[in-house]
Amino acid sequence: MRVDLHSHTTYSDGTLEPEELVSTAHKLGITHLAVTDHDSTGSLDAARAKAKELGMTLIPGIEINTREMAAVHILGYYIDDSDASFQKILDHHRRLRTQRAAMILEKLAKMGIKISLSDFDHREGAAAIGRPHIADKLREKGIVFSRQEAFDKFLARGKPGYVFYEGPSPKDAIEAILSCKGVPVVAHPGFSVSGQAILDLAKLGLQGIETFYPSHNPDQVRNFMDIAKKNDLLATGGSDYHGPGSGHERLGEMDVPEKIVEELLARKQKLFG
Ligand code: AMP
Ligand code: ZN
Ligand code: FE
Ligand code: FE
Repeated sequence: MRVDLHSHTTYSDGTLEPEELVSTAHKLGITHLAVTDHDSTGSLDAARAKAKELGMTLIPGIEINTREMAAVHILGYYIDDSDASFQKILDHHRRLRTQRAAMILEKLAKMGIKISLSDFDHREGAAAIGRPHIADKLREKGIVFSRQEAFDKFLARGKPGYVFYEGPSPKDAIEAILSCKGVPVVAHPGFSVSGQAILDLAKLGLQGIETFYPSHNPDQVRNFMDIAKKNDLLATGGSDYHGPGSGHERLGEMDVPEKIVEELLARKQKLFG
């Protein structure tokens, strides 16, 4: 068994189509893959079909970015993506994202960089334009060489193209995931989420901590495992793979303990029967 519980496709800001992502994971020996696009489940049907063909287990997931300053992203596992009210919530998030993208483009325009919303391909049900998509346009225009440079020069907090995302609160995100029988887990807390903040999220229904993550150092991994153990939270993990050229390219490298798959399912069973 080889497990990766965090990946993105072209339905959000990944560079691979769902089928390509699943085949790539299969080639790397991954047996259990969660696809966790931002605010979209549009990739899941194709990903499930491909996984079935290849004899892999596809775990339906989501990643919801919140408005919390400390960049709280909530992952949801084993969500029911056929739930109509959940889809309505995601659609609302995508609208908020589009509004924010328009505001970022206005800021860039003031710097003489002309990009319009209509320059982006849009696919029904796909996540709205996020900063990585805008970064790609800056690269296409030859203004930067990579997504990372686009963040460093324009799009990261404190840079001239930054606009705060007025998205859902962490509580809203956790509740949305629970409402479609998903298991909510805080993504990559090592970026900026404190131990105390994790405990606050646990009071709202959070079930796990993404512990095994590319940028987490051994001390952070130990610390998150410890918090998880003491608070009846799961220690999950994944690579946050966004595909070739994305700069987030470590699919399958997190050595996520395989027992996590059973633990997630047991948690779902406990919460929802
Ligand atoms: P957005 O949802 O539009 O705010 O974009 C969030 C995504 O942008 C994250 O999932 C990361 O992949 C990427 N990202 C955020 N901050 C940075 C940064 N400082 N450098 C590079 N990528 C970043
Ligand atoms: Zn992303
Ligand atoms: Fe994230
Ligand atoms: Fe992610």
